[in-house]
Amino acid sequence: MKYYSTNKKAPMATLHEAVVKGLAGDRGLYMPESIKQLPQSFFDNIGTMSFQDIAFTVAQAFFGEDIPDADLRRIVDDTLSFDCPVAPVTDNIYSLELFHGPTLAFKDVGARFMARLLQYFIRQEGREQVNVLVATSGDTGSAVANGFLGVDGIHVYVLYPKGKVSKIQECQFTTLGQNITAVEVDGVFDDCQALVKSAFMDDELNRHMKLTSANSINVARFLPQAFYYFNAYARMKALGKADNLVVCVPSGNFGNITAALFGHRMGLPIKRFIAANNANDIFFNYLATGKYEPQPSKQTIANAMDVGDPSNFARIYDLYEGDHKRITSLISGATYSDEQIREAMNRCYADNGYILDPHGACGYRALSEQLQPGEYGVFCETAHPAKFKDTVEAVIGAEVEIPARLAAFMKGEKQSVEMSKDFDSFKAYLMQQ
Ligand SMILES: *Cc1c(COP(=O)(O)O)cnc(C)c1O
Repeated sequence: MKYYSTNKKAPMATLHEAVVKGLAGDRGLYMPESIKQLPQSFFDNIGTMSFQDIAFTVAQAFFGEDIPDADLRRIVDDTLSFDCPVAPVTDNIYSLELFHGPTLAFKDVGARFMARLLQYFIRQEGREQVNVLVATSGDTGSAVANGFLGVDGIHVYVLYPKGKVSKIQECQFTTLGQNITAVEVDGVFDDCQALVKSAFMDDELNRHMKLTSANSINVARFLPQAFYYFNAYARMKALGKADNLVVCVPSGNFGNITAALFGHRMGLPIKRFIAANNANDIFFNYLATGKYEPQPSKQTIANAMDVGDPSNFARIYDLYEGDHKRITSLISGATYSDEQIREAMNRCYADNGYILDPHGACGYRALSEQLQPGEYGVFCETAHPAKFKDTVEAVIGAEVEIPARLAAFMKGEKQSVEMSKDFDSFKAYLMQQ
């Protein structure tokens, strides 16, 4: 399969090239040249298939031309060592729990899949070690670090702003050891990102070591998220509730919902989609006006969705050839203030006994407001509420239990490399590795 850039000014890339480069040379996002339709028989039987088997079928459609079945099967099985259940919240609203992975957030699947795919390519070529640089304000670092943990041939440097990530998040990437190095930067998130960008542009450094990024726009991180939506349909079908299914995705950079839209293009019978935003309402405004106007990001309690210029908008625009009518006939929007997010968490717990995290709360609220009679709704619960323990407990007035997996991170010993925010010292450090 070849991949083209959404800006259409860069040469087509192979899967391998697209994964290693991340962003195309013209700063566009890679898109697969074709999107395969899956046969009706697959959808007829899907309700009886496991998450892993469903994911393999979907992965074959994306990557089957480039990776032999046996290898792809191994990559999928290794990525999905956990389930992705739907939990009833009301009679017609279900929570798709995407938080059963190693760091209890949905980004685990993409990060793990990308790690395994990169490892496959490295082994094929017998190539020297690859170094992944990733800047994080919290959740991306934990998902990438855990996804790549113990994968031989790859070393990961996680750059994070000192004192500006939550304790739990910091533990999730500073206590791992092995092939993961946490770099604690004396600065803010933008400084971390600037260091990573400068590193990619530095010729001397790139001659010294092979560098790549694990950014969320990478095709290997974003496409596997489609697995979730086929699984959601399957689980709802098994319950006899898959007709007129509405899927609601709490969205920030719009990678997750774009993967869902790819699923729809492959024939997945979802009636319509809702993109739920926090106060960062750029996409919401696009739906209303047809104009895409990026804004500086606003800080909210659903902070993984604090994105003022969602990268994957370019993919959605490309998928529907910029046709605003096609986009609005399939996708509606929602935007909520912190106060409205708190209200949703509070009401959902009081009415249904279900504990939402602030991101999932946007999804739940949008479905409660927009679901029509005769429809069933599934929203993504994108992170375990314990990851936002203080916020959640203050709202619902009850304790949120920390799962053992999360507690285990808290016991580890923090190891990090302290770094100033100027590029010379970061480069000097990397040159010694
Ligand atoms: C990353 C993230 C999101 C947003 O997903 P996008 O693919 O960026 O739209 C939502 N919730 C949580 C918890 C996240 O970590």
